[in-house]
Amino acid sequence: SPAVQTYDATGATPVMQQFFEMKARQPDALIFFRMGDFYELFFDDAYKAAAALGISQTFRGTHNGQPIPMAGVPQHAAEAYLSKLIRMGFKVAVCEQMEDPAEAKKRGSKSVVRRDIVRVVTPGTLTEDGLLDARGANRLAAVAVRAGQSAVAAVELSTGEVECFLVAKDAVAAILAALAPSETLVADRLLSDEHLSQTLKICGGLIQPMPSALSEPQASETRVKRLYGVDTLDGFGGLSSAEIGALGLIAAHLEMTQAGKLPALRAPRRAAEADVMAIDPATRSSLEIDRTQGGDRNGSLLACIDRTVTAGGARLLASRLARPLLDPAAIDARLDAVEWFVDHRTLRERLREVLKGAGDMARALSRLALGRGGPRDLGCLKDGLKTGEKLAGMVGGTSDPLSPPPAELEAALKALTPSLQVGLSRLLDALEVGMGPDLPALARDGGFVAPGVRPELDQARALRDDSRRVVAALETRLCQESGVPLKIRHNGVLGYFVEATAGKADPLFQPPLNATFIHRQTLANQVRFTTVELADLDARIAQAAERALAMEVAAFEDWRAEAVAQAEPIQLAAEALARLDVAAALAEWAEDAGAVRPTVDKSLAFEARAARHPVVEAAVKRAGDPYTPNDCRLDAAGEAGARLSIVTGPNMAGKSTFLRQNALLAILAQSGCYVPAKSLRLGVVDRLFSRVGAGDDLARGRSTFMMEMVETAAILTQASPRSLVILDEIGRGTATYDGLAIAWACAEALHDVNRCRALFATHYHELATLETRMAHVSNLSLRAKEWNGDLVFLHEAAAGPADRSYGVQVAKLAGVPPQVVARAKEVLDRLESKTESPARLDELPLFAASAPVSAPVRAAPSRTDAALADLDVDGMSPREALDALYRLKALL
Ligand code: ADP
Repeated sequence: SPAVQTYDATGATPVMQQFFEMKARQPDALIFFRMGDFYELFFDDAYKAAAALGISQTFRGTHNGQPIPMAGVPQHAAEAYLSKLIRMGFKVAVCEQMEDPAEAKKRGSKSVVRRDIVRVVTPGTLTEDGLLDARGANRLAAVAVRAGQSAVAAVELSTGEVECFLVAKDAVAAILAALAPSETLVADRLLSDEHLSQTLKICGGLIQPMPSALSEPQASETRVKRLYGVDTLDGFGGLSSAEIGALGLIAAHLEMTQAGKLPALRAPRRAAEADVMAIDPATRSSLEIDRTQGGDRNGSLLACIDRTVTAGGARLLASRLARPLLDPAAIDARLDAVEWFVDHRTLRERLREVLKGAGDMARALSRLALGRGGPRDLGCLKDGLKTGEKLAGMVGGTSDPLSPPPAELEAALKALTPSLQVGLSRLLDALEVGMGPDLPALARDGGFVAPGVRPELDQARALRDDSRRVVAALETRLCQESGVPLKIRHNGVLGYFVEATAGKADPLFQPPLNATFIHRQTLANQVRFTTVELADLDARIAQAAERALAMEVAAFEDWRAEAVAQAEPIQLAAEALARLDVAAALAEWAEDAGAVRPTVDKSLAFEARAARHPVVEAAVKRAGDPYTPNDCRLDAAGEAGARLSIVTGPNMAGKSTFLRQNALLAILAQSGCYVPAKSLRLGVVDRLFSRVGAGDDLARGRSTFMMEMVETAAILTQASPRSLVILDEIGRGTATYDGLAIAWACAEALHDVNRCRALFATHYHELATLETRMAHVSNLSLRAKEWNGDLVFLHEAAAGPADRSYGVQVAKLAGVPPQVVARAKEVLDRLESKTESPARLDELPLFAASAPVSAPVRAAPSRTDAALADLDVDGMSPREALDALYRLKALL
């Protein structure tokens, strides 16, 4: 955390005294100190905020003889500034005025307005729509380690969802990567653990060290009980001490940041490692599940299949895709729901239309519970509950011959049927009758209670509006009586007053008019007066308006309390809407994409027929080309079948696409989605590993080969026969012999030791000989053919190794000049004429490559010849070919 400036508060003015007190309570947060219509920042905070926000920094008053640095943001625009600061990693404490300035004045002319910190804003505790991505979760996570067990807890404060994972230490990364929290709490003593702190860094988000004492068992338990308002945690089903430790950190953080306001949290949903597919951060990013490697949502698997129409549905789909399941029965339950919507298309379309009006109940409820909500949030609950009622009616009351909805949908519909939820229908009735059509964001703006429901309110409003008409009449009368053109106006300081332009005001000071007009204020161009009658009216209007507003605020509070009392059924209803949305949306996508229901069981099979990579397919089709579907068959249990496939083929032939496609099939199937294929039979995958070509990580500035080996090590130590491993171009980051040797040894280890299902793409064609040496290896190649001297990629996975790698042809396609391509061909022919088909490592042509190449052509090899001979054309990407060309040119 940033260095904290300490202040000498002696001699401070009363207001500054307040500021110092707040600063002492939140030393590492910027203090947003409310002064009237502004939030002001002082001293160091002012410098930091001015620099971060690009606003001007000035001075206000002095402290001990020195001017006080100050920066301010207007209250009405504060949310945008707040959002910017949070995204930049600042913590902000919002310090509000807790009373009307008039109240303070009543206590004495010297007393200052009471202020207090109402909230500390951190990335993981946001709840405002303006600060959140509607379709993404915003999680606050915590990690705790106790008695050799690790736990990760996460809360979505904006929806009240809580999750707990009890995992082995080396699986913390996979869980954190799946949760993608925007803020992670961790006891500071754990940060000295190199591995853990590395993991936290990789997983992104703000890392918030917490005093270790906060995760101690006794203290944690007390806090968690307080958070949930329960006397015992037994209701949560035997939480382990590590889980309690992690929840305890979250409870402590919420106590500190929410200033005593409790969110409406749901009971922790617990999962063990054994419940979800483990996908480490590197795999997750290389498969571009919910964002591309460039960080965009567009172009990810999620964006490709997401047809949800509600924000809650979008979040649920994202979290399902992030955490595929392992239990075939649970997967089937989800698939049943999708299938039902595939079968009932008309109903699905009507239902999706209705769902669009649902709003985001979960987030609205959370804001209401935290005291940050307003009439608009109540309106959102009203719309959501109404939508649910309508949906339940549609499915229940349709005259179409429907097959009965499967269990998953049945449960959702039940949660939405108001007749089954007495509390909910009472709330819905109250809101429908009580709220008008125009809903302000804040209760104190008023005008949201419908006329005709609260007689007293109607009276107060009538009086208020009536009096306004009386004011208008009074204006006309005063003008006529005085003969002076006058206006009656209103402001916050004077209330109602009579205003005349300075040049015409003179008669009002003279008898007889000065008996009626009482002078209040003289401005440059105007003079302001009041009259006894106007002052009287003013008081009546103010009173009526105040009474009306007070009654509206009271009505809001009643409804709010009722909504919070119904938190649980509302949360269940919101979840039910999200489930319906996801099932219908996945059915919609399945139809668009021609996807089928996968069969997921406890076998160790992987049998995909005519499968496609949904994202690449969409891109290829946009370009007007066809996508070639491919089969893939692996079997970790098979006596005769192969579990390890060596995939060869020239660059650009589609190897990576093929590999990733099969990994994505497993993710989709186990998340409960249909898959883009003719058929898929999948034995549950417990862990998915993907290690793709070096070079992608260059931007991170780490030794790419080192990274590659770290990730490979993780695979070789962790993959089980239930795992699916995808290795693309391993060993490429080092010298050729090294690389081949490492690739060879890894393939052997995967086959003999891990015995997992694996796809192994390589440009070392020598690995093709493994098929004859080992029982469960097969060769696959992505085919290409030469046609009229050009290379045509068929993108077709066929049995057997690639005959050659066509690197020279790829160089030609990439625009390498004809002379260089021709020369490369010549060198290649020379090399190939020396080659017998390699059967053993020590006979590989690579080992003999350099000698014959640099020999003939000219008497002594030139530098260009030597450089050209050194090119590993087969192993080059188009980009590398281009770089090589520049190097060659520089040698001339
Ligand atoms: P490699 O890994 O062999 O270099 P890629 O998998 O990166 O090749 O594929 C290169 C390009 O070929 C992709 O960007 C895509 O446009 C196209 N492609 C790959 N697979 C297919 C396919 N099955 N059908 C059609 N086009 C494909």
